[in-house]
Amino acid sequence: MLTLGVLRGDGIGPEIVDSATRIVERAVAGGSVDVRWCELPFGLEAIGEFGTPLPETTLAELAGLPGWILGPHDNAGYPDRFRGTLSPGGTIRKHFNLFANIRPARSLSTAVPAVCPDLDVVIVRENTEGFYADRNMYDGAGEFMPTPDIALAVAVFTRTACERIAHQAFQVATVRRKSVIVAHKANVLAKTTGLFRDACLAVAEHYPDVEVRGEHIDALAARLVSHPRDFDVIVAENMFGDILSDLAGQLSGSLGMAPSINTSQIHAMAQAAHGSAPDIAGRDIANPVAMILSSAMLLRWLAGRDGGIRALGDAADRIEVAVGRVLDAGVGTPDVGGSASTSSFTEHVLAALK
Ligand code: ATP
Repeated sequence: MLTLGVLRGDGIGPEIVDSATRIVERAVAGGSVDVRWCELPFGLEAIGEFGTPLPETTLAELAGLPGWILGPHDNAGYPDRFRGTLSPGGTIRKHFNLFANIRPARSLSTAVPAVCPDLDVVIVRENTEGFYADRNMYDGAGEFMPTPDIALAVAVFTRTACERIAHQAFQVATVRRKSVIVAHKANVLAKTTGLFRDACLAVAEHYPDVEVRGEHIDALAARLVSHPRDFDVIVAENMFGDILSDLAGQLSGSLGMAPSINTSQIHAMAQAAHGSAPDIAGRDIANPVAMILSSAMLLRWLAGRDGGIRALGDAADRIEVAVGRVLDAGVGTPDVGGSASTSSFTEHVLAALK
């Protein structure tokens, strides 16, 4: 029996998380392992009940689990007292040191229109420091205002964090097309992104089979659109990686199809690259693909651990094939030009898994 956590989150979270858990259950059914879900309070609902979007009891339960599914959270919809504090998702990443955010983006089906159908890239995003000031302080926030008209933010880059994310990127590239591009802006931000670039290039020495080079983030963003085939793995600091992965997700079809996992050595968290999409919440039209494929990534990560259960990797493969088949058959949610609802798309994937 494998127990995994479920945090359904805000906005479209409950709709897409329910879709993903049903599909995981179907994919592992009849195999050598049963999955049991441990649903934990998180998000707006938890504020109502516990006075915080991330109760201590949730963190304590997660500590005993190897992995979990995190629905998106809607910080902007939280009461004012939570403004300027670390988001609940950021807190989980920091608490469990989930330093690597792996975000693949590729076209999943020729039936889904894409600006860059040839794009097949993995963005490896550093998750614990960089330009996101909200997670950069031991105590207090890394953004502050000395006067009402001046705002300051603190960026943090440490060699240790740059090196460990670089190792992760090279390991991903080793089993792909063996190329890593290091995103930086060292012509302007010489110390911070310069350290990131130099640490990544130094780590490259351990991976002689992998091609590596640095590229300015702005030029890189333009080239991602003009020359999508040139990219295999991109390693980036926190904010650059976040922005690039939304761009890559949309270029390859829809933000609603861009999956991700966040990992440490001992825990993994499935989390769609997109947010809580409050504009479409509760209407049964959200695309569940990103959440479904994030869950498949979680299963594959669990299978790849020491003593991992191979059946979980097989289940992940089956989920990916089933989603591809459904999309190939022209079934898709409105964001990809289709007319399927979240629930009918889910039923199609469940049927394809039979
Ligand atoms: P965050 O700050 O949490 O990233 P955001 O509002 O900046 O939130 P999203 O919530 O990702 O960004 O939404 C951006 C746009 O993409 C919205 O118009 C939203 O409806 C759309 N979108 C996001 N996810 C999906 C999805 N799964 N299915 C369909 N549309 C989506």
